[in-house]
Amino acid sequence: MDKCKICKTQTKPVISFGKMPIANGFISSLNADEFFYDLKVLFCPNCFMVQLGQIPRPEMMFGETYAYISSTSSAMADHFKQQADEIIRLVSKRKDPFVVELGCNDGIMLKHIAEKGINHLGIEPANNVADLAKKTGVRVLTEFFDQKSAQKIARAHGPADVICASNTLLSIENLNSAFEGFNILLRDNGLLFFEDPYLFDIVSLSSFDQIYDEHIYYFSGHSVRELAKRHGMKLVKMNHQDVHGGSMCYYIKKGTAGRPSAQVAKWLKKEKGLKLDRITGYKRFKRNVDNICRNLKNTLKKIKSGNNQIVGYGATSKSTTLLNYTRIGPKTIDYISDNTPTKIGKFTPGMHIPIKAHSQFTKDSPPFTVLFAWNHKKEIFQKEKDYRKKGGKFITYFPKVTIE
Ligand SMILES: [Zn+2]
Repeated sequence: MDKCKICKTQTKPVISFGKMPIANGFISSLNADEFFYDLKVLFCPNCFMVQLGQIPRPEMMFGETYAYISSTSSAMADHFKQQADEIIRLVSKRKDPFVVELGCNDGIMLKHIAEKGINHLGIEPANNVADLAKKTGVRVLTEFFDQKSAQKIARAHGPADVICASNTLLSIENLNSAFEGFNILLRDNGLLFFEDPYLFDIVSLSSFDQIYDEHIYYFSGHSVRELAKRHGMKLVKMNHQDVHGGSMCYYIKKGTAGRPSAQVAKWLKKEKGLKLDRITGYKRFKRNVDNICRNLKNTLKKIKSGNNQIVGYGATSKSTTLLNYTRIGPKTIDYISDNTPTKIGKFTPGMHIPIKAHSQFTKDSPPFTVLFAWNHKKEIFQKEKDYRKKGGKFITYFPKVTIE
C-alpha cells in the first residue's frame, strides 16, 4: 500500500486532510453532485519525493471546463515575460532553436517566444486554455506529455533545445514517463527547466493550502536531484522565485557530466536544516498546520460572536483544502469576492460558500476579509488600499494568523 510513485518504496504518511472535493469543482447549484476523495500526503524515505496518496482521475480536473487562466494576473504576466527573455537569451546563439513548453496555458509565456519567430511548440491538455494560446499565435498540441508523445514530437519537429514547464510537472502522475520523454525529445546539449511551488516554502510557511488534487508532487532539491539521476540526467542549477507563495526553478541537463552551481548546494543545505530529507521534518509541519487551523477558527469565531461580517477574497482552488479541512463554511464567511466570470454566482466545493463579484465587496466594505489569495497579497493590498484606509481588515494565516 501507498508505494512511492517514482521508486516504489514504501512511503510514510505526512498528513491526512480527510474527504476532499475537487479543488476547482465550484458548483452552480447546492443540489449538484460532488466527487470526494481522500486527500493525504506521503513522503518517500528513499527518493525524498513528497506526493499525494489517492489521485482523482485527470479527466475530472483538466477537462474542457478547466478554468484557471494565467494571464488574468498582471504579476504572473510579468513573471512569464522574464522567463521568456531568459529562454530567448539561452537560445540566441543556437541555429534554428526549438523551444517546447509543457502546460503552456493561455500562451502567457510562449507568445513572447512566438513573437520572436522562434520555432516552438506548446503542449496543453486543457482545451479551453489551449484555444486561447492559439489565438496569441502560439503553436499548440492538445494532449498529455509522456514518453509516447515525446517520440511523436521528436519525429515531427526534431530535438528540442529547451524544454520548460511552469506549474505543470507537479500534476503529471507518471513523472518517470515524462522524464523518459524529456530524454527522447531533448538535444544532447539541451536544457530542461521547470518551476513549481517549492516544498521548502510550503513547510516553512506551513502553507498547506498548496496541497490539493491538481498538485500530485511537492518538489525539493533533494527529490528533483534523485529523479533526474534516475533518468540519467543532472540537476545543475536552482533559482528561487517569489511567485505562488514561493516557487523553485530547477535546471536539468542530459547526462551526468558537469558540476552543479553553488546555489544547488546552498538550497540542499537549507532543506536539510528543515529536515526535508527525513520524516521528522514533516511531523513538525503537521503540528504547525493544525495549530494554524485552530487559531484561524478561533479568531473567526471571536469576530463572528461580535456580530461582525466576514467575507473572503479570492475563490482560489487552494482555499478548498483550507475550508474543508477546517470546516469553515457560509455560517462564518458570508461570501467570497472574486472577479472570475466563470466563478461568480457559484459555490465553493464542499463547504458551499457563495461567490460574488468584486463590486459586492466594494459596496459592503466588510470589517473583516479573509485573504484566500494570500500569495497575491502585495498586489491586493495595493488595489484595496481604500478599503484598508476606511478601517477594513484583512486576515491572513501563513505562517501565522494575522489581522492587518
Ligand atoms: Zn521514492
